[in-house]
Amino acid sequence: MELSNLANIIGDSPTLKLNAKVAALKKDGQPIVHLGGGEPEFPAPSAAVEALVKKAQSRKIKYSPASGTPELKKAVTKFTKNVYGIDLENKNVVISVGAKQAIFDFLLCTVNPGDEVIYPVPYWVSYPEMIKLVGGVPIEVRPSKGLQISLEDLLKKVTPKTKAIMINVPNNPSGLMYPESFVKSIVELCEQKNIWLLTDDIYNCLVFDNNKFTSPFKYAKNPQNILAVNGVSKLYGLTGLRIGWGVSYNTELIAAMGRMQAQTTSCNSSLCEAGALGALEGDQGVIEDLRKNLEHNRNVLLGELAKIKDIEVITPQGTFYSFVNISKYNKNSMAFAEFLLDKVMLSVVPGANFGMDGYVRISYCASEENIREGLRRMLWALDKNATEPIEIGGKLVKKDW
Ligand code: PMP
Repeated sequence: MELSNLANIIGDSPTLKLNAKVAALKKDGQPIVHLGGGEPEFPAPSAAVEALVKKAQSRKIKYSPASGTPELKKAVTKFTKNVYGIDLENKNVVISVGAKQAIFDFLLCTVNPGDEVIYPVPYWVSYPEMIKLVGGVPIEVRPSKGLQISLEDLLKKVTPKTKAIMINVPNNPSGLMYPESFVKSIVELCEQKNIWLLTDDIYNCLVFDNNKFTSPFKYAKNPQNILAVNGVSKLYGLTGLRIGWGVSYNTELIAAMGRMQAQTTSCNSSLCEAGALGALEGDQGVIEDLRKNLEHNRNVLLGELAKIKDIEVITPQGTFYSFVNISKYNKNSMAFAEFLLDKVMLSVVPGANFGMDGYVRISYCASEENIREGLRRMLWALDKNATEPIEIGGKLVKKDW
């Protein structure tokens, strides 16, 4: 039996695959430290849990409206007012199965086969595969220096076939944010050239050092071409609820995204929608607690990384990731990550998965204890002068490299 061409070209999600591998090793009793993850360890906010329980106890767990319940849409407009400073109505909101489905719906609704979709490198692992899934052509823009593209880098890739540009601020995996002037230019470019702009803002409340997130809506004269994506996964550590959303002034786009959902997933889980509503209407102090915890963990990680010779990292301005240049040790990030996993049971994600070899993504959404332990192992593994064995998971490990 033959699979479709699409089935043969779409790759696995490398980060989800890594999570599964690490979970299996942990279950097997291996003393793994997982700094490759993409979800905060914080427990679910109690407001979300109470809402979930209440909904379950109602025993009304039925289909929901295809594009989300009116109550949850209303709560998203309130969130959007607070975070983006714009006034939207329910007709401007689509609730989806995670931010991931909102991004995919957007591509389904805007890209025709052969259209080009541009995104900067390093990128979130799913972008290229999602673009291929809708028949689009993924167009990477590599930074001419550092980890962030300039307007000149971007302009070199814009062609008459460019249908959409996707940006993610702050960025997974680098944690970096574009300067306000860049956001303004990209908004103007997309307006002038009739290009859709998807802004993946899933980490935009998790920013540090008084950095401020700049919303592309701020500079839009006619924001009909912009879709902003967000959700509860990172904001409240509710990755398992699978609730995200897209907001746009363009009601035709939002309605089309709703139709895509109606014909694919039918609707979101009504139970999960209730949980997400609980989180959005509950104590918002939980976001600040998480943000502060991540900022502290980032500082711990940077302090530990500073002890390792010949690696470089640009201070992340948000998210819970750092993108570490390890090319002086190994230009092959897959081999480097495998080395850390095999030798010292530390999991990090190879930069190649994000389009940039010579780097690894190290997360700091793990506990402080795990961050320190992971970095203790990494320092030892890389330090040529560290010849004494160390203890890992109660066993002495000797160097054979
Ligand atoms: N965008 C980015 C940049 C992400 O890192 C993630 C999750 N890792 C998503 C979107 C998807 O989020 P969700 O879990 O809400 O689908």
